[in-house]
Amino acid sequence: MDLRTLLFANLVLQVSCALGLSFMGRRVPGFRGLSWFAIAYTCAAVGIMGVVQGDAYHFGWLAVAGRCIVLLSAVLLTQGVAEYSLPGSSALGWGWFLLAVCGASEVYFLVHGPAGAVSGVVAFCVAFAAQITIAVMLLYAHDQAAERAACRFAAVLLSLIAALFLIRALSVPVRLNAVTLLSADAMRFSGVAIYMLLSVALAFAFVWMVTARLRHQLETQARMDALTGVLNRGALEIVVAGEMAACRARSVPLTVLALDLDRFKNLNDQFGHGAGDAMLVAAARLLSRSVRDTDMVARFGGEEFIVVLSGRTAARGFEIAERLRERIAALEVVYEGHSLGVTASFGVSTMRTGDGWNDLLRRADRGLYRAKQAGRNRVSLDEPEAEPVHPPHLPGQPSFT
Ligand code: GH3
Ligand code: MG
Ligand code: MG
Repeated sequence: MDLRTLLFANLVLQVSCALGLSFMGRRVPGFRGLSWFAIAYTCAAVGIMGVVQGDAYHFGWLAVAGRCIVLLSAVLLTQGVAEYSLPGSSALGWGWFLLAVCGASEVYFLVHGPAGAVSGVVAFCVAFAAQITIAVMLLYAHDQAAERAACRFAAVLLSLIAALFLIRALSVPVRLNAVTLLSADAMRFSGVAIYMLLSVALAFAFVWMVTARLRHQLETQARMDALTGVLNRGALEIVVAGEMAACRARSVPLTVLALDLDRFKNLNDQFGHGAGDAMLVAAARLLSRSVRDTDMVARFGGEEFIVVLSGRTAARGFEIAERLRERIAALEVVYEGHSLGVTASFGVSTMRTGDGWNDLLRRADRGLYRAKQAGRNRVSLDEPEAEPVHPPHLPGQPSFT
């Protein structure tokens, strides 16, 4: 295979990558970020074609324009990486500057005769490598665990591409026949072949990056309760099994609070579903803020929440439940000019030998039922005899004022 055929194959590959990325970017929701990369590949294909034609027909201006378009592809690629790392951010300012400086120096070298061509190619290669290095740095600085592997893979590929261009920048002054892209020798041939492989691999790296992000977003959404942002029931059931095993292994207790907002239907009926939602959000926030980061808060359904307290005994869990009960009773939510309040009833249970999650939950629910039966706005253990002596609950029903 001669170099022209290889360059043509490279052109076909770049266009295929551009089409593939742009197709995915348009068709798959959440893949829109791929559009920058698709445009970058298109520019690279057009630019390389310009350089090849310019070299073939000794048409210096075309080669210079082609190189500027290839540099533009690096600028757009860096912008894609910047937007991926920090949505809404821009790395274009520096890119335009580099493009202007490189374009101006290429034109300057071109009008100063054939000797200038060497400097022009060197300036282009250095500018390209510098621009790609910015993308590499952005990818390395990206600190999302779920996306790190994909970003590092892309960063390695881009580093290799930057290295290829630096090698070209160094080799042009010593191998003058290397000025044109078409000067066929083994080094040039392998350089183009490696570049081809790297750019195809890079397209996969970009797809991997975007897929990793989508997957992470979907996993997070699947774990969270959409209204309140705390864990949902399914996610709690997955993580609590591990937490119970960890507490058993460390021989520390684990206590569960089941709480249900009292007469919540009245609140909805009186003030509307929006008011109920606002109260649920406020209650969930209060619960999350009131416990340690290592504890878990989940919405178990409707107006029922579960709090899992690792390393807490039943007595300590009872105290915490009392504190939460008081805080919820004191919570005031202003909704459409109305000041809303609510109370909650709590059931408390503690892990026993041989308990599974359902046993623990059943006993906490039994405690909750007892608290409701006893008049609401109170805390109850599932075993009445084990209930710690505690100041009596606040009297009264929820007040909607
Ligand atoms: P109790 O003290 O016995 O728990 O009485 P309650 O009215 O709280 O219990 P009930 O089970 O009769 O009603 C629960 C209400 O919670 C009914 C339902 O409209 C409301 N609810 C459940 N999920 C949501 C929600 O996501 N948003 C709103 N606004 N209300 C909800
Ligand atoms: Mg209720
Ligand atoms: Mg309920």
